Amino acid sequence: MFNRRVINFNAGPAALPDSVLQRAHQEFFNWQGQGISILETAHRSDAFYQLTLQSKQLIRELLFVSNDYDILFAPSSTRAHFAFIPLNLLGDCTCFDYANTGYWSKHAISQAQKYAKVNVVTDGEQTHYTTIPAYQDWHINKNAAYLHYTDNETIDGLEFSYIPESPYAPLVADMTSSILSKPLDINKFGVIYAGAQKNLGIAGISLIIIRKDLLSRSNDKIPDVFNYQTIAKAESLYNTPAVFAWYITKLILEWVKEQGGIDYFYEQSLSKSQCLYQLIDQDDFYQNKINLSYRSRMNVVFDLENPELEARFIDEAHKKGFVGIKGHKAKGGLRISLYNAINLEQTQQFANFMNEFKQRYG
Ligand SMILES: *Cc1c(COP(=O)(O)O)cnc(C)c1O
Repeated sequence: MFNRRVINFNAGPAALPDSVLQRAHQEFFNWQGQGISILETAHRSDAFYQLTLQSKQLIRELLFVSNDYDILFAPSSTRAHFAFIPLNLLGDCTCFDYANTGYWSKHAISQAQKYAKVNVVTDGEQTHYTTIPAYQDWHINKNAAYLHYTDNETIDGLEFSYIPESPYAPLVADMTSSILSKPLDINKFGVIYAGAQKNLGIAGISLIIIRKDLLSRSNDKIPDVFNYQTIAKAESLYNTPAVFAWYITKLILEWVKEQGGIDYFYEQSLSKSQCLYQLIDQDDFYQNKINLSYRSRMNVVFDLENPELEARFIDEAHKKGFVGIKGHKAKGGLRISLYNAINLEQTQQFANFMNEFKQRYG
């Protein structure tokens, strides 16, 4: 039992800034002087409508999204959109291009395959997802509906350091675990989508930034609640949205802006991840096998040279108040997730613990 807030390195749902939790707590019983909480607020009310407009505006400002794009707050989490992206974007095409760079790419591919042929344009499995194969060697297709990639592989600890492109088709990116952490040229994308529970808030909704001309690809066989054109026309209020999740995202966006926007968080993410990678690289006690150019700024994965020490490492870290550090069950090892809500000082505290552990057992 802890009687204080621990440092939460969970991969998702993940840490939220204290100030956001405090604000949600303060205004919980009486939101916007309505005499009722946000949980009880009608999604058709003016107060909630204003919240939807403000959050879309904040996304536009923070990520420099032009009016060529619509901003959707769609139901459910990323895995749902692994299916609804291909359904909405297939249009008259007969296949999709996907880069396979890790666990989440693989799952995205498995869903797209239900609806049309998937061309795996590059396959990182051959190198055990330790690197991203050179872009020049990808096999891009002329007739694909889009080219899909996973910007940050949350489980494998691998991140794109560039934006790929297809000369033929729009680019679609799963940015669930890297959105709001680096500047992006949005104009290079057809669609960016992200579940909210990592850098954007809590579980229940997904952000979709979609180039407006792509909306016409959605056909009426797609369930209306997941039809991007229907969602866009209804300003993301077609069905009753997860009002609380949307509200938390709005608080997060305001907090990101207050702190200094995307540039600030990009700098922070470099400092935080470097702090851990430098320590890992000092010797073989801790090991990370990812190609240096593609190491994730968001999810630092590592193993201990002596795997017998792993349980002890996790246990001692937990006693010191560091939680959520165990790697995903599909991969094992350790994983430290450094989303925006984790600051440099907290990261340094963990690095100190890692260093001290090494001194004792190395
Ligand atoms: C977490 C994550 C997902 C899966 O999200 P769900 O909430 O389980 O739908 C998909 N892609 C990436 C990159 C993720 O980090």
